[in-house]
Amino acid sequence: MLRAAALFDGVSAALMARPSVLVADGVIAAVHGPAGPLPAGARVVDLPGLTLMPGLVDAHLHLCFDATGDPAGHLAGTGDDLLREHMAEAARRALRAGVTTVRDLGDRGYLALDLRDSDPAGGAGPLPAIVAAGPPITTPGGHCHFLGGAARGERGLPAAVRDHAERGVDVIKVMASGGNVTPGSPAHEPQFGAGELRAIVDEAHRHGLPVTAHAHSARSIADAVAAGADGIEHATFMTADGVDAPEAVIRAIASQRVAVGWTVGRDPAQSGPVPPQIASRMPGLIAARRRLYESGAVLVPGSDAGVTPAKPHDVLRFAPEDMAAAGLGPAEILQAMTSRATQACGLGHRKGRIAAGFDADILAIDGNPLQDLAAIRQLRAVYLGGRPVLPAPGGPATSEE
Ligand SMILES: [Zn+2]
Repeated sequence: MLRAAALFDGVSAALMARPSVLVADGVIAAVHGPAGPLPAGARVVDLPGLTLMPGLVDAHLHLCFDATGDPAGHLAGTGDDLLREHMAEAARRALRAGVTTVRDLGDRGYLALDLRDSDPAGGAGPLPAIVAAGPPITTPGGHCHFLGGAARGERGLPAAVRDHAERGVDVIKVMASGGNVTPGSPAHEPQFGAGELRAIVDEAHRHGLPVTAHAHSARSIADAVAAGADGIEHATFMTADGVDAPEAVIRAIASQRVAVGWTVGRDPAQSGPVPPQIASRMPGLIAARRRLYESGAVLVPGSDAGVTPAKPHDVLRFAPEDMAAAGLGPAEILQAMTSRATQACGLGHRKGRIAAGFDADILAIDGNPLQDLAAIRQLRAVYLGGRPVLPAPGGPATSEE
């Protein structure tokens, strides 16, 4: 049983005072307020002065990218066995920063699925829960083609989706537009047309899989929403020379409950410049994001960790300030980083909340995150399925009662 000074449960707008959280077999059995019952034989872990909250969720990262200036080059020079080890270490780095669930939206060789399915007792320590897309579906030579997911045509695209389904992916990721890290793949230009996107979405839905579409291009965003995509990553509404977010598309995103994968978080210690094609569009991007928020769209934070030096795999802890800049309050931000993100990842029924029946993925932080979002970086303990990850087992004051 964990006892602390306060608790944010993942959905409420206020903290609960002096909570006790009873954990059994990795699952939260009960949550009580002050003077809750102390079951006979319960082992009590006291975390005085600390606030409990659900583990964070990074709904968009790439374990296979190494957060250098040349992730594609690193991949090209690394075989699968070594790459799998690097990916495990990236996942553990996220976990040590309080990220207990990650959604990998693009790997090579389905290696993130290997990690997802690996023996939790094996390897060099526990991994966060992993939701994985496998290699993103892209055009030959298109954005992130080097991950191995290129396909084309009315027959080839559904076949690629079927292949992913047979490999056991949790979600289909499609590169609807070009992207910033792939030369010759302009972010503001579509890669697939509306009909191709619909073929991908229809086939994925036949297999019970959601689709999230990487889309910077304003055209691609409109096409993916019209095709019935469940999520849009980045959603920057780029045109050749600026940003154009039509009101009708924003309304459709909100009314269809399309999850907008909101790319947030930069490591302030890595103060490299924002790419020029993003920097010049920043005012338009911020305005579009605000309108998405004000329209009631489902905004889901994800870091895109791994793609640049400013995005190491534990960068999500720097996301709250980005989200506050778009107008969200602290409670909404914390809800988005926990319960809302687990819903977008298909795990909303068992992760992202501190409530009976949910997995005991719990952080203990020093401070009140509703008053100071930086408190999520004052991490004192991480529990994954009830087991301490940080500090090492035996950690803060433990007493037998
Ligand atoms: Zn990405």
